[in-house]
Amino acid sequence: MDEDRAKDDDDSEGNFDDVNEDKNDGDRFFCKNPTERWADVDPLCARAGSGIFTDVDDFDGEGDGFSPDPSLLSLVRENIKVLVVGAGGLGCELLKDLTLSGFKHIDVIDMDTIDVSNLNRQFLFTEEDVGEPKATRAARAVNRRVRGAKVTGHYKRIEDMEDNWYRQFHVVVMGLDSIEARRYINKVYCSFLEFERESGEAREGTWTPLIDGGTEGFKGHARVIIPGKTPCFECTTWLFPPQTTFPLCTIAETPRSAAHCIEHAKIVQFPEEYTDEKEGGVKGGSGGGVTFDGDNPDHVTWVYKRALKRAESFGIPGVTYNHTLGVVKNIVPAIPSTNAIVSAYCAFEAFKIATGCLKSMDNYVMYAGSDKVYQNLMKLYKDEGCSQCGRGLFVQHVFDLEEATLADVLDAIESEHENTFGKREKEKEEDNVKKKDNKEGDKKEKDDMMDTAKGITGVSSDGATVWMGGVLASQYEENLSKLASDAFSVTIVANDDEEEKDDDESTRNKKTVVEKTIHVNSAKLPSPLRVGLVFEAKSRTRRKTSKEGKEREREREEVRTDTATERERHRV
Ligand SMILES: [Zn+2]
Repeated sequence: MDEDRAKDDDDSEGNFDDVNEDKNDGDRFFCKNPTERWADVDPLCARAGSGIFTDVDDFDGEGDGFSPDPSLLSLVRENIKVLVVGAGGLGCELLKDLTLSGFKHIDVIDMDTIDVSNLNRQFLFTEEDVGEPKATRAARAVNRRVRGAKVTGHYKRIEDMEDNWYRQFHVVVMGLDSIEARRYINKVYCSFLEFERESGEAREGTWTPLIDGGTEGFKGHARVIIPGKTPCFECTTWLFPPQTTFPLCTIAETPRSAAHCIEHAKIVQFPEEYTDEKEGGVKGGSGGGVTFDGDNPDHVTWVYKRALKRAESFGIPGVTYNHTLGVVKNIVPAIPSTNAIVSAYCAFEAFKIATGCLKSMDNYVMYAGSDKVYQNLMKLYKDEGCSQCGRGLFVQHVFDLEEATLADVLDAIESEHENTFGKREKEKEEDNVKKKDNKEGDKKEKDDMMDTAKGITGVSSDGATVWMGGVLASQYEENLSKLASDAFSVTIVANDDEEEKDDDESTRNKKTVVEKTIHVNSAKLPSPLRVGLVFEAKSRTRRKTSKEGKEREREREEVRTDTATERERHRV
């Protein structure tokens, strides 16, 4: 088998960028492949059109539109890295569609193993894969079927991967069945965002497009999220209301469907009438009896029989054992064709984003296929105050790159954004003291200069925890007196031209400004908030003199020691 594979790999006929100059037919396409593998894909990039962020209606035929470029397809095939999250029903379709659209470098992550019940729709798996990880088996299957594909499977939880691992991808496609997992991926990619100070716009290059597909029975959706530009998952959590239940009056008095009868048998009849013969006649219900268990076949059979009786008395058809099981366990059957349709939306959006050949979907499409085929494109709107993709807070204070400590930064954040983080507890005390004795208050204020910030409970920078309050505060306490530029890794990238200028006396005092985004948490906030800081190097040239540098370092050391002593004293 392996030998066959090796032979296949050497056979250049099927390789991605094989060019056959002799075959005229291939001239129609950028990728002149004798097998015409990309015959349906290549023409998409061979025509001029509207650009990725331009509305088709606004496009005047020139300007910032899309112009054909043969290098685009090789970009997709050689350089674009795609992450597929989930290797279930939708994930299998996605891997197939993406590789057949030309994407070559794909990573897929899934924490599940293959169950025999998956095999009807998760077509990359066979009976011999049962019990094996979905991610690695799906990757293997695709690599075997699509020549040139380099899919890597990760049998991991999404929470187990480092931020830097997530940063390597250009496009992320989600084929998940859980809202929590979507929120997690959304959170990871929103945390990479940085914003322009002047315009408040998300900075180009800090966003990674997310494409989200979802299916439930005959219903499905696909959406494109450009974090910072279009609504993120968190902006629109209202799309996922809690699981709807039937109104009790409908179930009790006017049942119209088989599901209503089943719900009645489960919710009303079971607690009142069920008797467990095996357990010596224990009654159902809250009076100390049996609670309904959807995994207990006796219970389900009982509910099925009662529901059938009730349905007959109302002339309602459709109560079966399987339907009963589906209703009581809230199971929605997985429909392979829905997966296929939603996956096609997603893979095409990924292709559009990678090549820019067409404008992205703006920004949510829903699909319903139970009666007729219905689809509707909707535009969702950003929540400007979104905790994930919003700009967050901006601190006006400009910090001195070589002087400001972490404590200074926390103080400034809290005093500028008191409404968000609350007033520091110490300050409240101070206010009281001040009212009593003004002089005493001033002295206390001095002592509290380096005190722990109370409203802020955690600070992180580039995904690493820099400071934490509460019970862990003592572990991070010494960070407070550190230079903020060290704590947040703020550095000025030396530019040769600038170096020369700095040597020139006239520009010696030229100021250099560096922006930094950190994440700050507070007990009042559900998730960390983005906070933009500005650092300024006031006397950067002084660093060049090693003697002066050493002096400065010694000075700093003294300050640190003083602070530590101060602290110690304060504690006693
Ligand atoms: Zn958002």
